[in-house]
Amino acid sequence: MKVMKYWLYLVAKLAIAAGIVYGLQAALAWKYPKPHIDPRQLGDFGPPPPLFLHDMLYTFLTLGIWLIGAGLLSLILRDQRRRCRTCLRRLIMPVNSGSWGHLVTFGPPRTELICPFGHGTLSIEELQITGRQPPDWQPHDEDIWKELESYYQAPK
Ligand SMILES: [Zn+2]
Repeated sequence: MKVMKYWLYLVAKLAIAAGIVYGLQAALAWKYPKPHIDPRQLGDFGPPPPLFLHDMLYTFLTLGIWLIGAGLLSLILRDQRRRCRTCLRRLIMPVNSGSWGHLVTFGPPRTELICPFGHGTLSIEELQITGRQPPDWQPHDEDIWKELESYYQAPK
């Protein structure tokens, strides 16, 4: 159920981004001055061709909107993979482990982030030799902060 929320959040953000791109495209189509075509030139060829790929500036602006869409998508995905799978909070305290110089001894460099509420640890491989490795989410069975609290509150 909790994991469901994580994906619903992603879908919601994607829907918002799609809405923004669609809105920009609609605004462009609405605001862009219609070309003045001499009806005599039109002849029997029917309605004027679509602006996209026929009008330089319009095509350029459309590509720009697609670029914004691609940028939004990459921001969304980057944000999404750095969030807790349980509570959706942004993960904190990036810790680098491993080393570029000692790949064999200490393992490849990786960044570990934790949820501020201790739901789990995300481990991102910095070195991606074998293609794309999905970030490694490790849920914590126990609440580490509760554990710490009980440690400090234990009678001495
Ligand atoms: Zn969490």
